Amino acid sequence: MAFHLLKRDRDGARHLAERLLEAVERIGHCDRCRTLTENRLCSICLDPSRDRSLLCIVETPADVFAVDQATVFNGTFFVLHGHLSPLDGIGPEELGLINLEKLLVSGELSELILATNTTVEGEATAHYISEMALRNSVRATRIAHGVPLGGELEYIDSGTMSHAFSGRKEF
Ligand code: ZN
Repeated sequence: MAFHLLKRDRDGARHLAERLLEAVERIGHCDRCRTLTENRLCSICLDPSRDRSLLCIVETPADVFAVDQATVFNGTFFVLHGHLSPLDGIGPEELGLINLEKLLVSGELSELILATNTTVEGEATAHYISEMALRNSVRATRIAHGVPLGGELEYIDSGTMSHAFSGRKEF
């Protein structure tokens, strides 16, 4: 990208550099949910029409955007900025779980929706956080995963199929 910009678009490079510098200087983390924002609290946490008793746990700020765009979920979020990974030195502290514990203790939450990725690390992180929720008598749920809409069964991998069967529900 650097070579391309230097060769063909020096004005674009200057513009990009200015915007990046601006972002680095201005954008921080929301005090409540840890997503990226220019203010102390993000627009979702400040929105009075949001249900603050529902907290959806995601791994990245991009996941907040994905869930918010694609669903009717009207609660708030908590961004981990990763998942538990002891070998990489990423533990509960790095994921901001101390802040999450404070929210759990505050009594304002009725449900934690665990929307971490369906990787091994994402599952382990979801399990760890669900135990924190249970210790504080807050309901913990995991997003469903299984057969994609419009998908054909014969092309589904066995892990997904197995999850789809164990997560089946009443008609
Ligand atoms: Zn926020």
